[in-house]
Amino acid sequence: MSSACLARAAPLKTRARPVVPHRARAGPPRSAAPRRGARAMASRVVCAASAPVPIMVNDLTGKMGRAVADAVVARGADQCFLVPVALSGQAKDPVDVGGVEVEIRSVLDGDAGATLDELKSSYPGMIVVDYTLPAAVNANASLYVKHGTPFVMGTTGGDREALAEQVRASRLPAVIAPQMGKQVVAFQAAMRLMAENFPGAFTGYTLTVTESHQSSKVDTSGTAKAIVQSFNDLGCGFDIEDARLVRDEPTQLGEMRVPKEHLLGHAFHTYKLTSPDGSVGFEFQHNVCGRSIYAEGTVDAALFLAQKTQSATSPGEETLFDMIDVLKEGGMVTN
Ligand code: NAD
Repeated sequence: MSSACLARAAPLKTRARPVVPHRARAGPPRSAAPRRGARAMASRVVCAASAPVPIMVNDLTGKMGRAVADAVVARGADQCFLVPVALSGQAKDPVDVGGVEVEIRSVLDGDAGATLDELKSSYPGMIVVDYTLPAAVNANASLYVKHGTPFVMGTTGGDREALAEQVRASRLPAVIAPQMGKQVVAFQAAMRLMAENFPGAFTGYTLTVTESHQSSKVDTSGTAKAIVQSFNDLGCGFDIEDARLVRDEPTQLGEMRVPKEHLLGHAFHTYKLTSPDGSVGFEFQHNVCGRSIYAEGTVDAALFLAQKTQSATSPGEETLFDMIDVLKEGGMVTN
């Protein structure tokens, strides 16, 4: 990491409880076998990293946090390992993740900054991953910035403009992406390229958009919004308010063919284009079950960030990254 970043870390004012009680169980390097194929496919992103990357996952008692923690352990101790402390909204009982006992501390107990400082010195090169709540995005980012801990922000919502502004101004390396599924991001980017290169190519075509998510998701998918923007630049004139949101289980099971076990965690999208006379049709679909695509992308983003933090950044060089940057480095672990 740029020493400039670390140098900005706030002085340690309060002493946190010791943060290494479980270190013997945490890493590196444990002999956990990587998931089949994962190591072979592990990205170019990883090659230059000299030591396994310590990854702290806040909050790994949440659904995404847990998926990321599992992916960190599965990726293999030669590439990364889980830091045995996590921050949550409140202190909780320790959690076992693949044999690593992780202590769960409250981000609100006043010691969170001291915890980060101590972890940073116990686990040099530590990368923080944040999957918390939209309401926590800006406060957590401020904490990471203040304590100079490079981070991957997967949490959606919050004040995104303020977030980007703050991180850019601090020059702390970070990856911020509301969509960590690299293949979905690649599709999104391809649609954007098509719109930029062939604006108006689908003028006159009628677009219909159907998206299905677990019933707890009330708003329209951010990915659908981005893709629709590209279709509109291609000439479709679609109002995102007309997207059909499927949230009821019978329709998800029947019409959408969502596997029953993924009713509580899926992201299905279908975009249909029909020519004015109905003689030509196009259909684009991306259907995601579960969370592993996001978790794998997040681990790749963390390894990418570790590499970026190890190489010196010159003034003016970008330190705020998104998943397109991760993709461009060639990182691709599939599942
Ligand atoms: P969840 O409700 O299962 O987990 C959130 C966790 O955050 C909870 O355990 C909660 O205790 C904890 N928490 C609350 N306040 C906190 C704070 N201030 N600091 C630390 N932890 C705190 O939610 P989830 O399904 O895991 O989703 C988390 C976020 O990730 C959401 O914003 C969701 O939209 C986003 N998400 C992003 C992607 C992506 O690709 N970027 C993919 C899926 C979900």
